[in-house]
Amino acid sequence: MAEKPISFTRPSLTGDEIRYIAEALQSGQLAGNGTFGQRCAALLRELTGANLALVTGSGTHALEMAFLVLGLEPGDEVIMPSFTFASTANAVALRGGVPVFVDIREDTLNLDEEKIEAAITPRTRALLPVHYAGVACAMDRMQAIAERHRLDIVEDAAHAIGATWQGRPLGGLGRMGAFSFHQTKNLSAGEAGALLINDPALIDRAEIVWEKGTTRLRFGRGEIGRYEWTELGSSYLASELVAAMLLAQIEAMASITARRQNVWQRYHASFEPLEQAGRLRRPVVPADCGHNAHIYYLLAEDAADRDRIIRFLGERGIRAVFHYVPLHESKAGRRYGRAPAPLPVTERQAARLLRLPIYPDLDIEDTDRIVAAVAAALD
Ligand SMILES: *Cc1c(COP(=O)(O)O)cnc(C)c1O
Repeated sequence: MAEKPISFTRPSLTGDEIRYIAEALQSGQLAGNGTFGQRCAALLRELTGANLALVTGSGTHALEMAFLVLGLEPGDEVIMPSFTFASTANAVALRGGVPVFVDIREDTLNLDEEKIEAAITPRTRALLPVHYAGVACAMDRMQAIAERHRLDIVEDAAHAIGATWQGRPLGGLGRMGAFSFHQTKNLSAGEAGALLINDPALIDRAEIVWEKGTTRLRFGRGEIGRYEWTELGSSYLASELVAAMLLAQIEAMASITARRQNVWQRYHASFEPLEQAGRLRRPVVPADCGHNAHIYYLLAEDAADRDRIIRFLGERGIRAVFHYVPLHESKAGRRYGRAPAPLPVTERQAARLLRLPIYPDLDIEDTDRIVAAVAAALD
C-alpha cells in the first residue's frame, strides 16, 4: 500500500481566522486600514520596534513601496543577492533601477558582506539583503559598509518574521524592512505583506505612497481639510478581509514558530550523522542569529545528486523541492540586472539545495519518515 503523501507546505490555521473574517464582514468596513489592519500594524510594531508598519497586499508590494519611498531613480544601483525571489529585483527594476547581483556566503547562503564593496559604484543607492531561511545577514558589517558609502539598507525580510540578529528582530534593522505573508511563509493570509518603516523621517512619505500617492491618511486623521495627490504611489493596502486573517496568524506567531522549530530541530539532530559522514550539508546558523524555522534545507553533493534525492522522495509520496534559479542566470535578470563579478557560490549552492517539508502540523512520525527516506536515498 502506498504511504500517505506528505506535502511540502501547509498553512496552519488557528481557528480565529474565520471568526475575525466574520467580524470584518459584519462591521461593513472592508477597505484597507480599518480595525483589523490597524491591529496587525500595532502588533508588528510591537514585535519589531518599527516606527510604522503598513500592511500590504503582498511582500512584493512592500518591496516595491520601499523603492518608491526612497525615490529610487533610473540608473540607480541596488546591491542584492542573485539567490533570491524575483520580487527582490523587480522592486528595483520597476523604478528603472539596476539590480546588482553579489555572491552569497558558503555557510548561510546570505549576501557575502566581504564581496559587497567591490560592487559599489557612484550610482549605488542601497543594499537589499535577504535573510535567507530566516537566518540573519551579518548586519553589523552591512551597516558599517552602508555608513561608509552613504547607502540605505532595505531588508528583504520576507522569510524572517520572528527571527532575530543579536536579539533584535529582523525587518527592524534597516531603514525599512519587508515581510511576506504569502501562503508559503511562516504566517500567512494567502497573499499579504508588510512594510516596516524604521526611520521616522520616512513615515510621511511612506503613508502617502501606501495610499495611492495621496494625503488621504492625514485627511482621515483630521489633520488636513481635504486630501490630494502629492507623490507617486499605488494601491498597496490590504483589505480588511485579509487583515482579519493576518491578525489571527500574527497573534499565534509564538506557537506557530515553536511548532516549526520542533520539526527543524528534529531534522537537524537526525541529519548530523549523515553530515559527519560527508553525505550532505546541513543549514548553518551563526551564534548571533535566532532563526524562525522557516526553511529546512539540505545541500547535496551536486545538482544530479539533489535531483535524484528529490525524485527518490517523490516516489515515496514526499514532496521536497529545490529553490531559487539564480536571478543572474534568468532571462529577466540578464536583461535588467548586472553581476559585476562571477557568482560561483550562488551557482553551486543553488544547484545543490533541496528543501524538506516543514509546517506546524508535520508530526514526528512523518518527520522521521522523511529523514529515513533521505538516508535511504543516500545509501
Ligand atoms: C516570498 C518572497 C517575496 C515576495 O513575497 P510575496 O508576499 O509572495 O509577494 C520576496 N522576497 C523573498 C525572498 C521571498 O521569499
